[in-house]
Amino acid sequence: MIKNASSSTPMRPAINIQKDPYVFSDDALKSPSNHVSMDVSNIVTPYQTKIQQEPNEKRTKKWSIDDFNIGRRLGEGSFSTVILVEEKKTGFLCALKVIKKSTIRQYQQEHQLIRELEIHMRLFHKHILRMYDFFYDSSRIYVILEYAANDTLASYLKHHQHLDNIRTATFIYQIADALNYCHRLKIMHRDLKPENILLGQFHEIKLADFGLALHCPSSRRTQYIGTMDYMAPEVIENEDVNIDDLSCSPADSTTKSPIPYEESADLWSLGIITYELLAGTTPFYDAELTITKKRILSCDYVLPDNIHMDASHFISHLLKYDRLERLTIPDVFEHIFIRSFAQINFLNETLHHFASMHHSQNNPQ
Ligand code: AMP
Repeated sequence: MIKNASSSTPMRPAINIQKDPYVFSDDALKSPSNHVSMDVSNIVTPYQTKIQQEPNEKRTKKWSIDDFNIGRRLGEGSFSTVILVEEKKTGFLCALKVIKKSTIRQYQQEHQLIRELEIHMRLFHKHILRMYDFFYDSSRIYVILEYAANDTLASYLKHHQHLDNIRTATFIYQIADALNYCHRLKIMHRDLKPENILLGQFHEIKLADFGLALHCPSSRRTQYIGTMDYMAPEVIENEDVNIDDLSCSPADSTTKSPIPYEESADLWSLGIITYELLAGTTPFYDAELTITKKRILSCDYVLPDNIHMDASHFISHLLKYDRLERLTIPDVFEHIFIRSFAQINFLNETLHHFASMHHSQNNPQ
């Protein structure tokens, strides 16, 4: 359950960043600090830091790896490693995504990567993971990202197995809020899934991975063209997804060019995620991808009996084969499932509470 902001005092745990046994092999990451201790308020009150750029602000600072103290490894994608870092001057915590240039070159993704980084850097929304900047050296590209303290929605779901209506509706509302912002900018996410959704300090949604899609092709969940389980029927049809392509190498995947889907494909994925959060599994899942594909195309899924009738209505109106019949984002906001269960003001109240607590601690009377 989400705690009511007024009934509990948000914690301010200190984070100890231990040097991870993991080390980068070349000189790029030399002189990491072994042990850095930081206060988590650096994460939730980032607005005073210089690392934060305003929407129209020019990139004035040229970063280098020497600007950061290196902390623990946060995670790994196929082509990148993400580490927790502290900007030396301000003590600001962020996540640094380190991408090997050789890998990008190998799969001919240079232009795609830079273009996607530039798109991501222009997105400013509380439920979208901030990308502050990027820099590079001779062997690597470094992307400076907002630090999401609670890992991914996928790991959260794995831990809880399935979620209640309040938690689900709140997450879905926040994802829809982020999508609304993107769609207004004519940006489609195209690969919405719990692995691409991070959680901030208060378990608030932080949408990430904007079409970079430079992920490992070893599983059904990590394809350049999206992830089969979350893919809308029209996307499968437009892409003419060949099952063999879904187990191909990244090099193979570069031969495809991404076809822009319409916004309604993201709404289909939102329906899949709603189902998954409540039921603990995706609706069209089958060990055989061919069967998953068939089931998606015939909209063949079963809603578990124990799902609330408002949730069932919500899911079944997002998982419509005909995208014109699907709920739109305004419909999502107005839907009874969201209106009844989403704790829409929870985050604002929590942040407000935290900010005033932080202020009074720093300004004792
Ligand atoms: P990615 O390469 O984006 O797929 O990231 C790999 C893993 O690193 C993710 O699954 C997360 O566990 C972790 N991670 C990525 N970005 C962040 C971030 N900004 N804050 C915290 N953890 C992250």
